[in-house]
Parts: sequence; structure tokens; C-alpha cells
Amino acid sequence: MRGVHKDLADKKRQKELMTFLQKRYRGFITVDKIFDVISGRDTKTLLPTEVILALVEREIDRIGRKAIFIDGFPRNLDQISYSLYFRALMGYRDDPDFFVFIDVPEAVIDERMKYRVICPGCHTPRNTKLLRTKDIGYDAKKDGFYLVCDNHTCSGCGRRRLVAKEGDELGIEAIRERIELDRKVMRTLLDLQGVPKVFLRNSVPVKQMKKFIDDYEITPSYRYERKGDKINVVEEPWTVKDNDGVPSYSLLPAAVVVALLKQTAKVLGL
Ligand SMILES: [Zn+2]
Repeated sequence: MRGVHKDLADKKRQKELMTFLQKRYRGFITVDKIFDVISGRDTKTLLPTEVILALVEREIDRIGRKAIFIDGFPRNLDQISYSLYFRALMGYRDDPDFFVFIDVPEAVIDERMKYRVICPGCHTPRNTKLLRTKDIGYDAKKDGFYLVCDNHTCSGCGRRRLVAKEGDELGIEAIRERIELDRKVMRTLLDLQGVPKVFLRNSVPVKQMKKFIDDYEITPSYRYERKGDKINVVEEPWTVKDNDGVPSYSLLPAAVVVALLKQTAKVLGL
């Protein structure tokens, strides 16, 4: 979608997109309407799945013959049938495809949202508890700590204070509807036959940790203490309760990627 927004900013590319849609898109809203929705002139109409598929097809044509991951698809129950026939729809009838499921405890999503901050200058996302910057500051007025941007290419004065986004303090509850819908979609797909599946998990029960993972694969958590003028960073293993209430560690992204690669090789028979 980001690419499509760029297309709209450029007259020539806009025309090319228009031609593509007129030729390849089939659906129930007009091409003019699609432009209104993408450009934000129309905020009430949701972009129909037929449009999204046409745009994905165009993107796949552009990147040529490469393996692709489509993140967050199917997004709702109506898109499930489309996802089953996706490769045929895209004209890649014999290419191998598979679904990837990732199981993330709600507590992990909740804390990632509650403590996330962003640099107003360069928009680098960090997390005061889980993904800190090098330098930490202390605000005496608020009696609280904050992260200092350490991105060398950051615009403005650099070393800016990272700030939280309004609404993030609600954590996962802010996206509860989305979470429940995802759960329904995933449950349905789990029963699906005929398409290989890759299962990833973000967490490992503390009790079974030794058997499955190494210390360096665990996401640490940070808290900060003042010692005179200095700020001490305390790093600890981060434990959360998984959705069944079992105390667990959350894996760092690299550990999950390794699992993804191993399982992908297996389902593809490599
Ligand atoms: Zn910055």
C-alpha cells in the first residue's frame, strides 16, 4: 500500500496505475472510487479484497520471480478463500506456498504497546522496557526516565527525547477487536488441509527454557535507577504469563527467524 500512495503522488505513475486497474481489476466499486479511497478523499469505504489482490498482483509482477511473504493475509474471514487460491489467482499455480503462524502471548503484545516510544525527529521506534537506546535521561519534574535518540542520522538537534503515542497506554485493549478477529481467522486456518504450515512461537515456558533455548535468545527487560547524578540500567530476564497463565520468556526476533528458516526448508523439502 505504501508503494501505491507513492504512485498517487506522481502523475505518470498515477496514470499507469489507472491503466493497470482498468485492465486487471474486477470488482464492485469503480476505479475512480478506488483512487478516492487510496488517496484518502473517501475515508468511509473500505478497500475491497478484490482491489487489494489486484495491487498485490501488480507488486509481484514488479519484483519478478522471488519468494515473497505476505504479512497479515488473510486479514478477515472473507479473505480466507482468497488466501487458499492465492497462488492460482496470482498466476503461480505450481509454485510452493505455505502458511506461517506465530503465537505471541497477549501479555507480550500488551507490554510492547504500553512501553513503546518513538523519536519525534527520525521516527525510530523503541521501547522503554524492552528495546532501549544507549542513553537514558531523567526528568525531575515528572520523576521519570526517558530514552534519548541514538540514531546518528537523526534530523534536528539529535539526541531527542523519545515520546509515547497517545492511546498506547491502553496497551492491547486498544486493539482488542482486531486481536479477536485474528484469533478467529487463525483458528479457521489451523483446520485447513492441503497447504503446509509453519508454526512459530514467541514464548517458551520458564520451566522448559533449559531444554529448548539459550540465555542469549531471551528478550531482556530494562529498568532504571538513579545513583546521585548517574543513571544505572538494570537488565533482567523478562517473564510474562502466556495465554494459559504459564510464566514464560519471550524470544528475541533472531531466535524466531532461525525457527522460521528451519521449518521453511522442511515444508519446501529442501
Ligand atoms: Zn531520532
